[in-house]
Amino acid sequence: MLVKGVVFRLASDLPPEASSLLEEFRLAVNKAIRASLDARVSSRNGISKLLYRTFREEHPSMYAKHLVSSFEVAAGILKNYRKRLRNGRPCGMPFVKRLMMKAENQAYKLDRTEGIVDLPIRAGCRVKLRLVVSRYHRSYLNDETLSLGSLTVLPDRVIIAFRKEAPRPIAASSVLSLDTNERSLDGIFVEGGRKGDTSCIQVKAAFPEVAIIQQRHHERRRRLQKKKAHDRRLTRVLCGREGAREHHRIDYRLHHVANGVLEFAEDHKSAIVLEDLGNMRMNKNKILNRRLSLWPRRKLHQIIEYKAAWKGILVIKVDPRYSSKRCPACGRIPDSRMGTEFACECGWRMDRHINASMNLLQTAISKGLEVAGGLRFSPGAFQHDVVMTLYEPAMAARSELNGTSHIGVTS
Ligand SMILES: [Zn+2]
Repeated sequence: MLVKGVVFRLASDLPPEASSLLEEFRLAVNKAIRASLDARVSSRNGISKLLYRTFREEHPSMYAKHLVSSFEVAAGILKNYRKRLRNGRPCGMPFVKRLMMKAENQAYKLDRTEGIVDLPIRAGCRVKLRLVVSRYHRSYLNDETLSLGSLTVLPDRVIIAFRKEAPRPIAASSVLSLDTNERSLDGIFVEGGRKGDTSCIQVKAAFPEVAIIQQRHHERRRRLQKKKAHDRRLTRVLCGREGAREHHRIDYRLHHVANGVLEFAEDHKSAIVLEDLGNMRMNKNKILNRRLSLWPRRKLHQIIEYKAAWKGILVIKVDPRYSSKRCPACGRIPDSRMGTEFACECGWRMDRHINASMNLLQTAISKGLEVAGGLRFSPGAFQHDVVMTLYEPAMAARSELNGTSHIGVTS
């Protein structure tokens, strides 16, 4: 089952009944966290068994389903807390700071035509929340194949989870093979012709701003650390805030990049080949390490993968070993040091990123990637004079700002 959270702004302020529900919910979650830590239980059922009766007495007016949902939220937070502890990362007592509440899908109603959430507060008291509905939101509300998941209410917005069965991957008739770099995705688009001839052109999705943003925030954090060296707590708070801002800004851009790639893949019925970054080791040199920080690339892959799953586009991840070193024409592994160009003694020369993407594609084909009508990829079919732009920063300026969303996968 695929789940996608869509953010809706509220058309007006939260009614006071709903605000007090949010406060009560937050209180319940925080109390549940403390009590569960004391009693050493962490599962939702465990917490429910432990606390339901007392909570029922302490929050007599709260809708029972909301109460159970507060246990679920607490269980989720405890899970993260235990993970942090296991990994030896410092963390204080967990708690929910922001006002929030979460309702399971049986615990609220949504009028999908009008865009109105009907939320029970307690017996005999319900509130209606009018949502701001853009064209983007309309596409989710109108899609009848999507069922509703949980509802998260925040003071100024709600997040509605839409769910659907994972669609069967569309039979691919072409392939996008992409090498992921710090500032761009570079690769090739390969399509079989009617007479069995294969065309292969260069594709590019450039996101130079991501590295610039990372650099700028890194410098800002370093300055903060120097300036506030006398106050470590303050430094941590300020740096954390910087980090959140950085992630947010980069995330936003990566979503646009992924959309560019997926629109192209959808139009051309392409399967997508990416390298598996999972095994990539960090360099021991710290400076280099930071410069090559992998998280935006991992994040980009994550976004591409779940957006592709939602659309039924096949994504194949392959082991990138030797992808930057092997000659796709003859298979040799020349031991030359690399510049921007890959050169082999057989005479093959190619931009090294494009070269890597060809190797990724060959690996994917050898692992059984199939394309409708067959695909005989030969590096020689590469057309040197054509570049297809999947995304460039100027394209973000043109696209509509339509809220953020994210998808998770549940079993
Ligand atoms: Zn060669």
